[in-house]
Amino acid sequence: MAIIGNENKLSESARDFIDEADLPGLLAGNGSTVDDARLDDVIAKSMAKDPLSLEETAVLLAADSPGQVDRIYDAARQLKRDVYGNRIVLFAPLYIGNDCTNDCTYCAFRRSNKEVIRRTLSMDDIRSQVEALENHGHKRLILVFGEHPRYTPDYIAECVRQIYAVRVGQGEIRRVNINAAPMDHAGYAAVKAAGIGTYQIFQETYHRETYGKVHPSNTRKGDYMWRLDGVARAIEADCDDVGIGALFGLYDWRYEVLGLVAHGLHLYKHYNVGPHTISFPRLRPAHGVSLDESYMVDDENFKRLVATLRLAVPYTGMILTAREPPELRREIMAFGVSQIDAGSRIELGGYTEVGDAQVVDREQFELGDIRSLDEVMRELLVDGYTPSFCTACYRLGRTGENFMEFAIPGFIQQMCTPNALTTLCEYLVDYASEETRAAGEKLIEEELDKLPDNKRKAELMDRLRRIRENDERDLYF
Ligand code: SAM
Ligand code: SF4
Repeated sequence: MAIIGNENKLSESARDFIDEADLPGLLAGNGSTVDDARLDDVIAKSMAKDPLSLEETAVLLAADSPGQVDRIYDAARQLKRDVYGNRIVLFAPLYIGNDCTNDCTYCAFRRSNKEVIRRTLSMDDIRSQVEALENHGHKRLILVFGEHPRYTPDYIAECVRQIYAVRVGQGEIRRVNINAAPMDHAGYAAVKAAGIGTYQIFQETYHRETYGKVHPSNTRKGDYMWRLDGVARAIEADCDDVGIGALFGLYDWRYEVLGLVAHGLHLYKHYNVGPHTISFPRLRPAHGVSLDESYMVDDENFKRLVATLRLAVPYTGMILTAREPPELRREIMAFGVSQIDAGSRIELGGYTEVGDAQVVDREQFELGDIRSLDEVMRELLVDGYTPSFCTACYRLGRTGENFMEFAIPGFIQQMCTPNALTTLCEYLVDYASEETRAAGEKLIEEELDKLPDNKRKAELMDRLRRIRENDERDLYF
């Protein structure tokens, strides 16, 4: 469906589906008691892996007795295990440039912030950052850009090509995702041609009035429809692997959950493909920013929102970032998270130029978790998760409408688990500390024991041997 459009041309599906969905009406019942039987029906639908409607999601949001909330948590934990097993995919952010012509009130990169240090990495800088990331064992990156005329689609595509070309030792980056401003159709086509994975655009808030307050109207980002329609244009330009998100803390978290679900349903209705991932960043302190704290989301409600999203969109990947502190990340992971970043630094040049502490005037916001990748891997392994660096699906064209992960019975056991184990094995051989290696080898043995004795398992064991003994790499199913 490659449509090349003019700059400013919206997608064929462009309309304000949020206004039409009447989210305030759906939330009006909040505070009134939810019938246990109705809640059970909604949970049963999720457990059957059916995506929920907005009305059904609103039932989960209205549940308020401790018993009901516990049922939501239990169901989210169970669904996560049923759909994703114990895998957690790992990635790292790489900030390329923080020049920005927008003036988002919450962000340290906003143009009126004179206190932040501005920088755009040169191609040489990018190479040294990527070498450092590869030397830690990373295989998947998300590139982050401010919105500025110098960050054109061709420039972003050049960064992507440069990154794929960097190889140190056994290291290589196999998937580059993007978090940048919305583009026009031709722009998406240019970055797609460079081999990007997911294109992420966070709507920040689906509440139009709040959107207008935090994104001044004389800026590009002030154009609500251009942004709301951003991932639809990406899909029309064949970037069918898209991520959506809301910045929690700008407005009522319940409203934003419905906004995210409405966005996913809209995409599915028009393109037969939903978002590949949903992100739910929480507002963090940022250098030179004074935050309006009226809608800050506390930890308990944050857990609620993650569990609710898990149940509402059973097949959408969910990303929990290092904005959150380690203990909370550990707890929330169980409610349905499928991807986390680790060993993250978000200062420009942060992977080589700064020490252990954060340098806040070089960051977009403060991180809550700056542990190393090895440390996070070890904790995951000890907690019984299988950390994965798998990139097979997008490299084999299993994306968008062709994404079979959940449609083919046994796909996870046949493909995802083996790919998680081979990529984990590569990490253990090439980068892990002794302690992490021991925890990882133990987990691989346990996971192999759980697999049925068949041809696939034999092939997997042979590939693990080839990784350990022959130094072969990138053996994906
Ligand atoms: N500049 C592009 C944009 O705004 O879409 C892309 C990158 S922006 C640097 C990435 C995301 O960081 C934003 O979409 C926003 O949700 C998030 N962000 C901005 N300020 C934040 C803060 N103070 N705390 C947490 N997340 C923040
Ligand atoms: Fe610029 Fe993005 Fe920050 Fe807004 S959130 S000021 S667009 S970098």
